[in-house]
Amino acid sequence: LFGDGKMFLPQVVKSARVIKKAVAYLLPYLDAEKEKAGLTKAQAKILMATVKGDVHDIGKNIVGVVLGCNGYDVIDLGVMVAADKILETARRENVDIIGLSGLITPSLDEMVHVADEMKRLEFEVPLLIGGATTSSRHTAVKIAPQYENATIHVKDASRAVGVVRALISSDSRDELIERTRAEQERQRIAFEEAAPPDLVELEVARAGALPIAWEADQIPEPSFLGTRVLDPIGVTDIVPYIDWTPFFSVWELRGVYPAILDDPKVGTTARELFENAQALLDRISAQRLLTPKAAYGFFAANSDGDDIIGYEDELRQREVARFHTLRQQARRGPDRPYLALADFVAPRESGLADFLGAFVVTAGHGVDELVTGFQSDHDDYNAIMVKAIADRLAEALAEKLHARARADCGGGEPDDFDVKDLIKARYRGIRPAPGYPAQPDHTEKRTLFELLQAQTAAGVELTESFAMLPAASVSGLYFNHPEARYFSLGKISQEQVEDYARRKGMETAEIERWLGPNLGYRPAGKRASS
Ligand code: SAH
Repeated sequence: LFGDGKMFLPQVVKSARVIKKAVAYLLPYLDAEKEKAGLTKAQAKILMATVKGDVHDIGKNIVGVVLGCNGYDVIDLGVMVAADKILETARRENVDIIGLSGLITPSLDEMVHVADEMKRLEFEVPLLIGGATTSSRHTAVKIAPQYENATIHVKDASRAVGVVRALISSDSRDELIERTRAEQERQRIAFEEAAPPDLVELEVARAGALPIAWEADQIPEPSFLGTRVLDPIGVTDIVPYIDWTPFFSVWELRGVYPAILDDPKVGTTARELFENAQALLDRISAQRLLTPKAAYGFFAANSDGDDIIGYEDELRQREVARFHTLRQQARRGPDRPYLALADFVAPRESGLADFLGAFVVTAGHGVDELVTGFQSDHDDYNAIMVKAIADRLAEALAEKLHARARADCGGGEPDDFDVKDLIKARYRGIRPAPGYPAQPDHTEKRTLFELLQAQTAAGVELTESFAMLPAASVSGLYFNHPEARYFSLGKISQEQVEDYARRKGMETAEIERWLGPNLGYRPAGKRASS
């Protein structure tokens, strides 16, 4: 029913909970019976893991539950799992299928690596690929050719069972593999034959930067410089800032909150899900089960070409941080600028005293403990719910802190400003996050975290792929200029990548790996992502 869209994910996961609890009770009896009947083998064994460097697992866990309640034996290795561990376990456990998951772009490259290793070690089992940044195109162009055996992109949890069922049935297996192969071949040809993007030269893009007529009165001075830690933060204070729409999409219910609660198709399910979320949220607040943390700060700053310099103090002599930004290069009409985040900060040569803000927030402290508790109670529904709620609280805290940061710069909203307008970002200034479209390079988080002392201040760490740990965390920069806006970098040229690598003191090939999806050319190295 779920696969056919007649039942929705929250219902599946709740049903799974009933079954799991019942099975846990019955298991001792079942095992005895199974042994008598010689029925020990599950339909198939599936190994699942979030790849090395990545910490996101809501989607993977959902797929695990859905497969589990369809009678498959799921071995879940958790998050940040290195290729060798995945493959050793797969061998030892003699699994039938391997499923990889990831959310951030560096994980794409890690998946290519796992596929490479599977080929080297002569694996033959099907490889399933899923997660927010994965796509059927990337799977076809970059992952499948490495492995050469069945490599299938699974778009969402509702497709997982169909794909797995087809793969383990001797009747449909070959057909699915053939169909996938043909489709992937078509995607590879389309990719090979696609015209290269029409990019302007870096010099042209720079000449077309956002023309801001810098004036001192457009630059408010923050009420303090340096980093501040907010402590303690009550969950109840953050809840009003929650944007609930993304919460429903985690549960694969499409629609905008609050209208989704009355949606003719998913309304009943959405309402029940929302009530369950409120109940858990109430418990979390009342018993202080999560400990949100936040640190933010303001720094004297100026742009220097496409870089942004953060200074130690207002004397603007000593650099304490240098952020590197990237500039759009896709050819556009004469009046449209080629944006880079550096455009939103007054250039050094203007002689104006500008400032830059930075923040890190988390709602992830306490999540693991809660999840462990729910899991030992066979309650995957609430285990997933906790993570989904923690993510919402982190984004809500980012929204609330941003409002406070605007107030610190004298540009706060009036007291009666509606939270709905906050969520729609109807205010002055932006808070772009590294790894998002305006600055897709996750490695910029290193600079941000050092500047804020994020680990000490908020207990947030970075993995080798620059994912934040705990996962329910948000970080970014604050730009205050009224013309600051979110944008998408798009494709960039080799010329800019080389220039950027020089500015960052990194190897071009390494930058090409981090910026795989933004490269407007074929890099010489073999492991860049499309
Ligand atoms: N209210 C939503 C916010 C989603 S966007 C929620 O609760 O999920 C989350 C954050 O992503 C933004 O606040 C901003 O930090 C970042 N972001 C969005 N678009 C961006 C872009 N084009 N470039 C950089 N960061 C962006």
